[in-house]
Amino acid sequence: MNGCQNCGGTGWIIREVHGREGAERCACNPLPAKIKPGIEEIAVMLGQLAASKAIPFFPETELGFQLMAADMSRYVEDLRSLRLFAEKLVQHGKPYEGPLSLRQIYCAYCTPADGYYPEPLPGFETETLESRHKMLELASRDREIEQHRQQALEGPAENRGLFPLPEIKTLQ
Ligand SMILES: [Zn+2]
Repeated sequence: MNGCQNCGGTGWIIREVHGREGAERCACNPLPAKIKPGIEEIAVMLGQLAASKAIPFFPETELGFQLMAADMSRYVEDLRSLRLFAEKLVQHGKPYEGPLSLRQIYCAYCTPADGYYPEPLPGFETETLESRHKMLELASRDREIEQHRQQALEGPAENRGLFPLPEIKTLQ
């Protein structure tokens, strides 16, 4: 590939991180330039979202898609962000509340290309989303422990009091 001494020309350096092997991008291997989606591409994505009927009150006209896409093209950074944004819109399924609400949702997950962060939409603050995720995780863990407790109580007496500890996940 090239004559780089650090990576042997592959563009990647194999490293062990937290006991796992991973590839790290070498300095000789620059990140591919971000591909900013055009208005047309964004409008197509909006048309697909509308057709999916996943979002209540979402605009349904070609003119609507074009106008929204023109606005979105100012802040949607790349295709990956566009896809993530569409996914999140569908996941949350909140009714459409105008172009600003789209930017608010986008900014909860991605960096706006024009650097303008609006006030976060209630329920879409990054912290709220993170803490909600943690709450859900904790709630499901509680349910698991409760299930084990119930099973143990219903089972033979010698099993009582044996509650398997939940698996501890560490952030790395
Ligand atoms: Zn290299």
